[in-house]
Amino acid sequence: MSIPSLVPLSSTAWAWMHNSTAWGYSNCGLIASEGQALLVDTQFTLAGTRQFLDAVEEAVPGVEIITVVNSHQNGDHTWGNQLLPEAEIITSAASAAHLCEEISPEQMMMLSRSAPTSAVTAYAAKHIGGFDFSGITVTGATRTFTGTLEVKVGRAAVELLDLGPAHSAGDVAVHLPEDRVVFSGDTLFVGAHMIVWSDSLSACIAACDRLLETGATTFVPGHGEITDRAGVIAFRDALARVHEDAASYALSGVELSDAVRLVKASHAGKLAHPERLFTAVAAAYKEAGAEGSPSTVMGLVEGMAQLSAE
Ligand SMILES: [Zn+2]
Repeated sequence: MSIPSLVPLSSTAWAWMHNSTAWGYSNCGLIASEGQALLVDTQFTLAGTRQFLDAVEEAVPGVEIITVVNSHQNGDHTWGNQLLPEAEIITSAASAAHLCEEISPEQMMMLSRSAPTSAVTAYAAKHIGGFDFSGITVTGATRTFTGTLEVKVGRAAVELLDLGPAHSAGDVAVHLPEDRVVFSGDTLFVGAHMIVWSDSLSACIAACDRLLETGATTFVPGHGEITDRAGVIAFRDALARVHEDAASYALSGVELSDAVRLVKASHAGKLAHPERLFTAVAAAYKEAGAEGSPSTVMGLVEGMAQLSAE
């Protein structure tokens, strides 16, 4: 269980913070000005999203939520969308196109509540088993964009950045230039290893550079604690070191399973979920044109679950 709270970042921005590296406890954002509000993401469950919306109402009484930006399509960032039927829901075109490939709430419930007879079901039960996904109707975006998009929230100018595929098939960051704040979605994890659902670890590194190019000084990650420029640089450089080693293993013909163990041994460090290194190495192998990487989300989950069980 996590007890989240709404943390003020400026006179117009707040972060809904779990400060947790556990699966599913994603951070959200609130930007409010002159009676209007924009939310960055919703929560994994309806109860979690209601709790967030109650905190929004308490911080900015009577505010009208006109926009929700989904940083990507994973359920822990979107499964509360249905509670905002009046709002425009924006994401990138690449992110919207991927919605149909996501695991559904029903599948997630089945996976996390079935007997832990395989590495995957044991992993799902351990990390996702505490969430209740009943009543969720997956609700997609009502507006998509490519490149960048400016939106106004009261007097606040908000810039949406289409980062392309990185963590997911399409990631979006929300930039508030006046306050030098960026909500990064899952292109940043603080205190935990990166999950690479896309096929490119290089793209994850490039996405960090893109976040830094905004000139922002405060970064709200999809998971973990708020960080600064040094935190983003450290995260990017750690990804680059993993990429360098994984690419050289791929080039010398090391089997993926062996490369994963070698990378875990030298790069796990103190961060949570070292098993996620499986997804980073698998992506680096794909980029290098090497064989053996799984081509589906479930294949990546299986790789992580097996590595975690070792
Ligand atoms: Zn997430």
